[in-house]
Amino acid sequence: MDPGYLMHPGYLMQPGYLMDPGYLMHPGHLMLPAGADGVARLLEAAAPWATPRALGLLLLREDPQSARIAADRRAALVDAALEDGARIADSVSKRWGREPDRIAFRVGVSVSECDTEQGWGATVVYAEYLERPARVRLFRPAIARLDRGLAEPGVRHITGIERARSALLAHELYHHFDAVRDGVPLARRHRVTLLRFGAWQWTSGLVSLAEIAAGAFAQRLLGLRWHPRFFDIITVHAADPQTAMRMVAALREDNAHDFAAAERGLAL
Ligand SMILES: [Zn+2]
Repeated sequence: MDPGYLMHPGYLMQPGYLMDPGYLMHPGHLMLPAGADGVARLLEAAAPWATPRALGLLLLREDPQSARIAADRRAALVDAALEDGARIADSVSKRWGREPDRIAFRVGVSVSECDTEQGWGATVVYAEYLERPARVRLFRPAIARLDRGLAEPGVRHITGIERARSALLAHELYHHFDAVRDGVPLARRHRVTLLRFGAWQWTSGLVSLAEIAAGAFAQRLLGLRWHPRFFDIITVHAADPQTAMRMVAALREDNAHDFAAAERGLAL
């Protein structure tokens, strides 16, 4: 089976959970098994294209509702999610600093590390955020595998990080701030119509927007060189180099759309 772009299949398995406030487990970071080999070259090839917007568009593609979003709305939705993550990171860092464990402590989110494998099938869960009580669980074996990928020759000078834990914890903290803010969580704010029948509409939230924003939050809070979605290339490459190459190809494609749109804008 070709895992394709389905690196975050958690929300594919629970497409209804946003409509059900009783179901409060966040699927967290979901990855394929790690064990990188020669990945530095692929990261280098991806680097010129791996803007936060292009990485966000990649995440949006994986959203179960992706096909229902008009092409001309995609970039604006991604930008809105990126801005949301960065804005929340700015207000959080002003109040509680930039250290994820300290922030978690200050806002009453407990953080635990487990030695269990939380994944299933071809996926691995790195971390998850749960509400009531608010807590983050980090799954050590999966994080250790990603760290091994980050330690591959030539990788660190591109990624700028040695370990993934802080970025993963920061990502999950965004889900906390998204859940407890005044107003509606990001994914529920942007909805797509699945079925229109007379006056009755069935809509679904865009779960990927919260993932895009969570990455932007981690990037701004920790001053990362990349939106953490970039690091997925490492993990995916370890499991299936072809899929990782397709990810990079998709990044280039999304940039090409941007360039084409910019050119059309200039022509007007
Ligand atoms: Zn997440």
